[in-house]
Amino acid sequence: MHNRAAYTTVLCLLAVWGAVCATAAAEQVERVVLQRAGRQHTIEGRLLLTAQDGGVLLMARDGALWAIPPEEQLERTPLDHPFESLGPEELGRRLLAELPAGFDVHHTANYVILYDTSRAYAQWCGSLFERLYMAFTNFWRRRGFDIQQPEFPLVAIVFANRDAYVRYSRAEVGEAIESIIGYYSLRSNRMVMYDLTGSGPAGRVSRTATTAAQINALLSRPEAGRQVATIVHEATHQIAFNCGLHIRYSDCPRWFSEGIAVYFETPDLTSARGWRGIGAVHRARLAQFRDYLQRRPPNSLETLLRDDRRFLDAKQALDAYAEAWSLTYFLLRRYPDKYIEYLRALSDKEPLIEDGPERRLLEFQEVFGDLRELDEEFLRYMLRVR
Ligand SMILES: [Zn+2]
Repeated sequence: MHNRAAYTTVLCLLAVWGAVCATAAAEQVERVVLQRAGRQHTIEGRLLLTAQDGGVLLMARDGALWAIPPEEQLERTPLDHPFESLGPEELGRRLLAELPAGFDVHHTANYVILYDTSRAYAQWCGSLFERLYMAFTNFWRRRGFDIQQPEFPLVAIVFANRDAYVRYSRAEVGEAIESIIGYYSLRSNRMVMYDLTGSGPAGRVSRTATTAAQINALLSRPEAGRQVATIVHEATHQIAFNCGLHIRYSDCPRWFSEGIAVYFETPDLTSARGWRGIGAVHRARLAQFRDYLQRRPPNSLETLLRDDRRFLDAKQALDAYAEAWSLTYFLLRRYPDKYIEYLRALSDKEPLIEDGPERRLLEFQEVFGDLRELDEEFLRYMLRVR
């Protein structure tokens, strides 16, 4: 669904760090030796922030974010060469060394895919991601948003085996991993998933017999649609955080990032090139929203916008996602220019700076106007959507 663990980490950081005193002005590159959970790490990266207590936020050369409190720091050395992200070959080699034996690398234009599935499955993922990437970036360019080239190759790790995927991910995601079929991590900047043809409702195929056509046939079945949508949803988050729509660890409102991910999540496995159906009515989310309307409180829009609480509460999350999709759908159709203006403002936010509910509401209303009027129009509009 989404990476709850990573968001929780951010909230903890905000609470612990409190006052962030300085954003690194000129680019500063450092090597930090740190001790964490009994292990020593040496990280070279761009210094993004220094907190008042001496904690630092470092962007490593593979795109991972390291929030390092003072008590973990053993040594900090400023470096005098400019920051350089790892290229796809080097990144692939390093990831291979990190993963269990049996993994291989598949490169596409924008992705480094580490897999121990069949090669065909890795290729199928690569093709899906590249088509989504193309469709996603074109969509925003056409609406006047300045899409950035990703600074880092986009990484996906694809496990053949669900148990191995769970073992790998548990430290980061926690027990929730049991019910998540794939996720994008804000911390590592990677997607992690497993072979959907090997388990779950899509059925089983033997590894050696797997071909692109068989994979497509299996995953095009209606019962696999929800699973593929989840992978597309997570891939959308990764692209959005790497192409300049959102800044990782910034206080981007959850309704906004999730609204975009749901807006793009409808899979399109019918075409080898394009991606039909972006921005189409999302049947499941619309149905959920209609259902929610029967119990929707008058201040629903405000609670959706002001903080992320409804997304973090299991009882309210489905309604929150449905309302986030509905609002995104309404705003992109009815007020595309204002939406892009609001997107630009959010894409300028700094990491680890918390806005708070008042500021969130204010920034939204500065662009879209009075909430009550907008809410009336929103509901009228959504009732007509077929
Ligand atoms: Zn999400």
